[in-house]
Amino acid sequence: MTKPIAFIDLGAQRAKLGKRIDTAVMNVVDGGAYIMGPEVKTLERQLAEFVGAKHCLSCANGTDALGIVLMAWGIKSGDAIFVPAFTFVATAEVVAWVGATPIFVDVLPDTFNMDPASLERAVATAKTLGLNPSAVMPVDLFGQAADYDAILPIAERHGLKVLADGAQSMGGVWNNKRVGSLAEVTTTSFFPAKPLGCYGDGGAVFCNDDALQALMVSLRVHGQGTDKYDNVRIGLNGRLDTIQAAILIEKLAIFPEELIARQRVAERYNAALGDVATVPTVDRRAASSWAQYTLQTDKRDAVVAACKAAGVPTAIYYPIPLPRQTGYRHYPSVEGGTPVSETLSRRVVSLPMHPYLDEAAQDYIVDTVRKALA
Ligand SMILES: *Cc1c(COP(=O)(O)O)cnc(C)c1O
Repeated sequence: MTKPIAFIDLGAQRAKLGKRIDTAVMNVVDGGAYIMGPEVKTLERQLAEFVGAKHCLSCANGTDALGIVLMAWGIKSGDAIFVPAFTFVATAEVVAWVGATPIFVDVLPDTFNMDPASLERAVATAKTLGLNPSAVMPVDLFGQAADYDAILPIAERHGLKVLADGAQSMGGVWNNKRVGSLAEVTTTSFFPAKPLGCYGDGGAVFCNDDALQALMVSLRVHGQGTDKYDNVRIGLNGRLDTIQAAILIEKLAIFPEELIARQRVAERYNAALGDVATVPTVDRRAASSWAQYTLQTDKRDAVVAACKAAGVPTAIYYPIPLPRQTGYRHYPSVEGGTPVSETLSRRVVSLPMHPYLDEAAQDYIVDTVRKALA
């Protein structure tokens, strides 16, 4: 290999965008509107249009995005919020922020996403514990939308609000609709390694509800009221930097073609590895944004070691399900536990995945993985 293989090659994207990024950043630097400059509004309008939502609220990161929604909904102590056991910690963290109780729900072994049957059982678990079932937070893991066709009716039957954690699935599709328009509220993250990333932290909330949007606009800036020195509620400093908005406007312009390139990379992996490992299953109703390309194998250690020796970066998302993480052990899981999440945490390994992975590098990765599994 002439150049080292990147897990996510942001340098290649930077080279492609070239002067457009330099110009966008310098316009903000010279313009001086560093906080809530015009690029922020422009980006919000473009993102809302891209996902098909009425409103977009940009914010400081994907965790704040989730937290702002729970604050706006008035989620509080005594409320049970259903979150998958197999996800990034932020999904459950924000529930604890507002004093509510996350209840861990198991996931499906093929899509890695929330198991609707486990959610149904978890509602009963919450009631047994004397908690008030209030909301469900499906996560679109690794870029694929959760099964909203199954989850939304369960939520409706039990009076649960639905907050879709789309931190990994920007650009993903379900039933021909973009992530961002699939649930009453969706959040996303622009952390650099996400499908649509900026050059720092960033996030957004999508919804169609005018009143909710107005509340979140206030929460984003310390709970300010119409008189900005009369803060009418407890909020946070959750704004997106203007520089990050300017960068995202340039990246959004090439995002559709990047999604096509990611799909091409995923299909080549599937074809080349399907006989030696369990390749990712994408529901026929879904198109993934391929935040991660994640294999399952009982010989994970061998794959990781062979890749390391060959200079192929790998990652394990996630090695410890949330119910076993130190800060989260005291929170309840669905009756019967989360065995699928446990199994996945031992079997998953993610391979390099980005739009600029060329065929020669991918063939080298495939060869390395195949040899390890031979
Ligand atoms: C990355 C991520 C978040 C948090 O996003 P940040 O921008 O890093 O705060 C939340 N949920 C999931 C599932 C994520 O992958």
